[in-house]
Amino acid sequence: MPGFELFGAQEREQLNDVLDSGVLMRYGFDGNRNGHWKAKELEKALEERMQVNHAQLLSSGTAALTVALACAKVGAGDEVILPTFTFVASFEAVLSVGAIPILVDVDDTLTLDPLAVEKAITEKTKVIMPVHMCGSMADLAPLQALCKKHELILLEDACQAIGGSYDGKPLGSYGDLGCFSFDYVKTITCGEGGALVTNNKEYYVRADQFSDHGHDHIGSNRGAEGHPILGYNYRISELHAAVGLAQIGRLDDFIASQKNNYSVLRSALEQIPEITFRRVPAKGEENYSFLSFFMPDENLARKTVEALADNGLDGCFYWYDNNWHYYRKWEHLKDLKSLVGLSKEIREGVPNYNLSNFTKSDHWIGRNISCLIKLGWSEEEVQQRANKMVEIIKSQLS
Ligand SMILES: *Cc1c(COP(=O)(O)O)cnc(C)c1O
Repeated sequence: MPGFELFGAQEREQLNDVLDSGVLMRYGFDGNRNGHWKAKELEKALEERMQVNHAQLLSSGTAALTVALACAKVGAGDEVILPTFTFVASFEAVLSVGAIPILVDVDDTLTLDPLAVEKAITEKTKVIMPVHMCGSMADLAPLQALCKKHELILLEDACQAIGGSYDGKPLGSYGDLGCFSFDYVKTITCGEGGALVTNNKEYYVRADQFSDHGHDHIGSNRGAEGHPILGYNYRISELHAAVGLAQIGRLDDFIASQKNNYSVLRSALEQIPEITFRRVPAKGEENYSFLSFFMPDENLARKTVEALADNGLDGCFYWYDNNWHYYRKWEHLKDLKSLVGLSKEIREGVPNYNLSNFTKSDHWIGRNISCLIKLGWSEEEVQQRANKMVEIIKSQLS
């Protein structure tokens, strides 16, 4: 997963271009910037790599989700369906535009269960937001069919899955809108940053305006630009974009090396008959940033993660007990604790998640262990790691 592991000359070179020109802003200052437009270049690179018409860089993945919702005119009282297993940013973005996060169960893909989604659709539903957690994706075809049938927007949170694909399309490009994060732990990083991609020109134009105080970006005099809509500042800086530009050039190498390391661990673990693996949908290719598997029960999963950590095998996560990633520990959402006054729509619309029952999610997440795949491991280290993992898991099972 982490692009920060392999960081060096190419990132430095791109950054120095920006430092040399002294223009840190992505828009304007045409005369001073020695032709350096790092954000624009990175957007072009993203459009090519993701096979989409439009990419808009933003200051974070959270900003990307927020702007994606806003540019699709999702707002007060609209319902957005998303999984119980995600990162808190997914529902933060929904709440920030005044919309209602409707959590639904995940299945053995560790992402949205299409049957649970269908049951959750109401008159107020506007968006289905699958979250491609830990490098692998939701079964997007049935979700897209639901969107077509009910005239909903398919918004992919692909923040953790850049480089994967579904039905031959890069993850993020399958739905109406897709979002990426380039924060410090993601597959490729800008330090902080994010992007949305879309083939819908109207969404793109609104995203471009909304993320820069409503500027229409017409003409070369920033001070004279029009403001067709209200907006905010969700811009990325040239410094961050420069780092991302170096990193996106290395994305396919990162994925290849993740796949290699993943495959060694996976074939070792496949020798243990008691464990099963996360299901990757038939038409999907993950980005191999995590290896996710299921233990026979919750107790064994929890004990095994502890044993792995105690034996120096870092980077294995038990999301079931995790604060940021699973609904069980989201007290701030359950109790709607906020510093700002929440709208009537939100106060009345968000279900009481203290009372809700996500047995199906608990069944899968409660037994799941996800291990981070690092890029920097030598062949020998991966093999040693694989052997040690097998030994520890077997000893827990015996
Ligand atoms: C990281 C992440 C985000 C938010 O990205 P930031 O750049 O950290 O704001 C959103 N969703 C998921 C699934 C993520 O992993």
